[in-house]
Amino acid sequence: MNEKDIEKVYKVRDNSHSPYSNFKVGALLKCKNGNIYTGCNIENHGIQSICAERVAFVKALSEGEREFESIIVIGGHKEDINNECMPCGYCRQFMSEFVDKDFKIYTMKNGQIKEYTMAQILPNSFNNL
Ligand SMILES: [Zn+2]
Repeated sequence: MNEKDIEKVYKVRDNSHSPYSNFKVGALLKCKNGNIYTGCNIENHGIQSICAERVAFVKALSEGEREFESIIVIGGHKEDINNECMPCGYCRQFMSEFVDKDFKIYTMKNGQIKEYTMAQILPNSFNNL
Protein backbone atom coordinates (compact mmCIF):
# COMPACT_ATOMS: atom_id res chain seq x y z
CA MET A 1 0.00 0.00 0.00
CA ASN A 2 1.28 3.46 -0.88
CA GLU A 3 0.08 7.06 -1.16
CA LYS A 4 -1.09 6.49 -4.73
CA ASP A 5 -3.30 3.59 -3.59
CA ILE A 6 -4.85 5.74 -0.88
CA GLU A 7 -5.54 8.52 -3.40
CA LYS A 8 -7.34 5.96 -5.58
CA VAL A 9 -9.50 4.91 -2.63
CA TYR A 10 -10.52 8.51 -1.95
CA LYS A 11 -11.29 9.00 -5.63
CA VAL A 12 -13.47 5.89 -5.94
CA ARG A 13 -15.15 6.78 -2.63
CA ASP A 14 -16.45 9.91 -4.38
CA ASN A 15 -18.44 7.60 -6.67
CA SER A 16 -20.36 6.15 -3.73
CA HIS A 17 -24.14 6.11 -4.18
CA SER A 18 -25.26 6.39 -0.56
CA PRO A 19 -28.21 8.81 -0.34
CA TYR A 20 -29.88 6.85 2.47
CA SER A 21 -27.03 6.44 4.94
CA ASN A 22 -24.69 9.21 3.74
CA PHE A 23 -21.96 6.72 4.60
CA LYS A 24 -19.42 6.76 1.78
CA VAL A 25 -16.89 3.97 1.45
CA GLY A 26 -14.10 3.29 -1.00
CA ALA A 27 -12.00 0.15 -1.32
CA LEU A 28 -8.93 -0.92 -3.25
CA LEU A 29 -8.22 -4.61 -3.70
CA LYS A 30 -4.70 -5.65 -4.63
CA CYS A 31 -4.12 -9.01 -6.31
CA LYS A 32 -0.95 -11.03 -5.83
CA ASN A 33 -0.09 -10.40 -9.51
CA GLY A 34 -0.18 -6.64 -8.84
CA ASN A 35 -3.51 -5.94 -10.49
CA ILE A 36 -5.79 -3.51 -8.66
CA TYR A 37 -9.58 -3.29 -8.49
CA THR A 38 -11.52 -0.54 -6.75
CA GLY A 39 -15.05 -0.35 -5.43
CA CYS A 40 -17.47 1.94 -3.64
CA ASN A 41 -20.67 1.25 -1.75
CA ILE A 42 -23.90 1.42 -3.74
CA GLU A 43 -27.25 1.71 -1.98
CA ASN A 44 -30.81 1.50 -3.22
CA HIS A 45 -34.33 1.73 -1.82
CA GLY A 46 -34.40 -1.93 -0.88
CA ILE A 47 -32.01 -4.02 1.11
CA GLN A 48 -29.83 -4.99 -1.82
CA SER A 49 -27.13 -2.43 -1.12
CA ILE A 50 -23.58 -3.60 -1.71
CA CYS A 51 -20.44 -2.61 0.16
CA ALA A 52 -17.30 -1.23 -1.43
CA GLU A 53 -15.28 -4.30 -0.49
CA ARG A 54 -17.62 -6.69 -2.25
CA VAL A 55 -17.82 -4.43 -5.33
CA ALA A 56 -14.01 -4.58 -5.62
CA PHE A 57 -13.99 -8.35 -5.11
CA VAL A 58 -16.79 -8.98 -7.61
CA LYS A 59 -15.04 -6.85 -10.23
CA ALA A 60 -11.81 -8.79 -9.71
CA LEU A 61 -13.43 -12.22 -9.56
CA SER A 62 -15.43 -11.55 -12.72
CA GLU A 63 -12.16 -10.77 -14.50
CA GLY A 64 -10.74 -14.12 -13.44
CA GLU A 65 -8.62 -13.03 -10.48
CA ARG A 66 -8.31 -15.57 -7.66
CA GLU A 67 -5.14 -14.62 -5.74
CA PHE A 68 -5.50 -11.64 -3.42
CA GLU A 69 -2.97 -9.81 -1.30
CA SER A 70 -4.72 -6.96 0.49
CA ILE A 71 -7.61 -4.52 0.59
CA ILE A 72 -7.77 -0.90 1.72
CA VAL A 73 -11.10 0.29 3.12
CA ILE A 74 -11.75 3.96 3.87
CA GLY A 75 -15.15 5.36 4.72
CA GLY A 76 -17.35 7.42 6.93
CA HIS A 77 -20.37 9.71 7.09
CA LYS A 78 -20.27 12.32 4.33
CA GLU A 79 -16.77 13.81 4.35
CA ASP A 80 -15.75 12.35 7.71
CA ILE A 81 -12.88 9.95 7.32
CA ASN A 82 -11.47 10.12 10.83
CA ASN A 83 -13.43 7.20 12.17
CA GLU A 84 -12.19 3.78 11.25
CA CYS A 85 -14.36 1.89 8.76
CA MET A 86 -14.06 -1.85 9.27
CA PRO A 87 -15.55 -4.39 6.86
CA CYS A 88 -19.03 -5.51 7.94
CA GLY A 89 -19.76 -9.10 8.92
CA TYR A 90 -21.16 -9.91 5.51
CA CYS A 91 -18.01 -8.68 3.77
CA ARG A 92 -15.74 -10.51 6.21
CA GLN A 93 -17.45 -13.80 5.43
CA PHE A 94 -17.57 -13.04 1.70
CA MET A 95 -13.85 -12.17 1.53
CA SER A 96 -12.91 -15.25 3.55
CA GLU A 97 -14.12 -17.43 0.68
CA PHE A 98 -11.31 -16.12 -1.53
CA VAL A 99 -8.37 -15.24 0.74
CA ASP A 100 -6.06 -16.91 3.21
CA LYS A 101 -5.64 -16.05 6.86
CA ASP A 102 -2.72 -13.69 6.12
CA PHE A 103 -4.71 -11.50 3.70
CA LYS A 104 -4.23 -7.89 4.83
CA ILE A 105 -6.99 -5.40 5.57
CA TYR A 106 -5.90 -1.75 5.81
CA THR A 107 -8.10 0.98 7.27
CA MET A 108 -7.56 4.60 8.28
CA LYS A 109 -8.23 6.19 11.64
CA ASN A 110 -7.43 9.84 12.29
CA GLY A 111 -5.01 9.80 9.36
CA GLN A 112 -3.18 6.72 10.61
CA ILE A 113 -3.07 3.47 8.65
CA LYS A 114 -4.24 0.43 10.61
CA GLU A 115 -3.41 -3.10 9.49
CA TYR A 116 -5.25 -6.35 10.20
CA THR A 117 -5.18 -9.88 8.88
CA MET A 118 -8.20 -11.88 7.80
CA ALA A 119 -7.65 -14.22 10.74
CA GLN A 120 -7.84 -11.25 13.13
CA ILE A 121 -11.10 -9.84 11.80
CA LEU A 122 -12.80 -13.21 11.30
CA PRO A 123 -11.55 -15.57 14.00
CA ASN A 124 -13.01 -19.04 14.28
CA SER A 125 -14.59 -18.64 10.87
CA PHE A 126 -16.99 -21.09 9.32
CA ASN A 127 -14.41 -22.12 6.68
CA ASN A 128 -11.61 -22.48 9.25
CA LEU A 129 -9.24 -19.76 8.13
ZN1 LIG B 1 -19.73 -4.86 4.00
